[in-house]
Amino acid sequence: MSSPPEIGTAAAVQVQEVEHVYGTGADAVTALGPISLDVPRGSFLVIVGASGCGKSTLLRLIAGFEQPTSGAVRTAGERPLPGAGAGVVFQQPRLLPWKSVGGNVELALRYAGVPREERARRVPELLERVGLHNVAHRRIWQLSGGQQQRVAIARALAGDDPLLLLDEPFAALDALTRERLQEDLRLVSERTGRTSVFVTHSVEEAVFLGSRVVVLTKRPGRIALDLDIPLPRTGLEPDELRALPEYGALRAVLSHAVRDAAG
Ligand code: ADP
Ligand code: MG
Repeated sequence: MSSPPEIGTAAAVQVQEVEHVYGTGADAVTALGPISLDVPRGSFLVIVGASGCGKSTLLRLIAGFEQPTSGAVRTAGERPLPGAGAGVVFQQPRLLPWKSVGGNVELALRYAGVPREERARRVPELLERVGLHNVAHRRIWQLSGGQQQRVAIARALAGDDPLLLLDEPFAALDALTRERLQEDLRLVSERTGRTSVFVTHSVEEAVFLGSRVVVLTKRPGRIALDLDIPLPRTGLEPDELRALPEYGALRAVLSHAVRDAAG
């Protein structure tokens, strides 16, 4: 028995025949596309590609910060509105500098409708996750760049937006913090069923996080490879996951595709 699609059943993200051009006339640069892509609810899509291939452009279009030159972008069936419906972490953290570290995270919880007592409990918990519990009272400008990035991640994890958009969020972090946050993000997505679109240039990070990885060609970015990552993640420790033979095989396939696509 088939019924017409209902409101709310659309894919979390739909990118339809999208092309994006910066500038006009002789200065015009086609950064992206044409590209079409559906991201089903609850999936973890990783976009990989060489620097300058249009990854951030694609993410900004999905976040609603840019309008496509042609084609259409929909999130939950609607035209995306900047700052609504998605938790966003960019390469450069965008925090409220006049608030404390804890204040920035608390505000995200308040926006998510979390009651005061629960907020008081969850702020230190979230800061602990990103290793910032002992700087909760500092102002944002008193933190290093890497610490600020961790506040941005805690804030995105705190919100209850069904969609997370992350643009190389771990690029500036030390290896240990990066691995811990990758694991946190993987668990959060698994537990909450949120949809994530994650941009990186690291193949290792892509295989570790993605349920699906899309490799973009060099500019203008188009889909060079669209690969499911069918790894048995549940119940595996990060090291066990990385040690699987399939893990190494997928990483090799993707490294090759990324090199080819950048060609
Ligand atoms: P990536 O994130 O994959 O490194 P971007 O999406 O940032 O790539 O950029 C894709 C291309 O578009 C690059 O060549 C970049 O120089 C160009 N570009 C990005 N933003 C702008 C802009 N605001 N104005 C003009 N060109 C831009
Ligand atoms: Mg970028």
